[in-house]
Amino acid sequence: MKLFHHTKFLCEIDQVKFKTYEELTLHMRQIHHHPIVKCRDCGKEFVHEKDRLHHVREEHERKVDYRKHKD
Ligand SMILES: [Zn+2]
Ligand SMILES: [Zn+2]
Repeated sequence: MKLFHHTKFLCEIDQVKFKTYEELTLHMRQIHHHPIVKCRDCGKEFVHEKDRLHHVREEHERKVDYRKHKD
């Protein structure tokens, strides 16, 4: 299982590779006009809702610190 071991991010539409997830997100938005989902907690952008959910689980829900929200 090397699910978390990929060093390259691949565009599933035209198979272009990117070094960072941010570059892939930008490409999806600019080239394919793919809808981007944004994390409400930190503003990070994601190509897929499942990626965002994974990020929220890993980055935010772990720290139970919901009192310091800035609105
Ligand atoms: Zn592409
Ligand atoms: Zn976040």
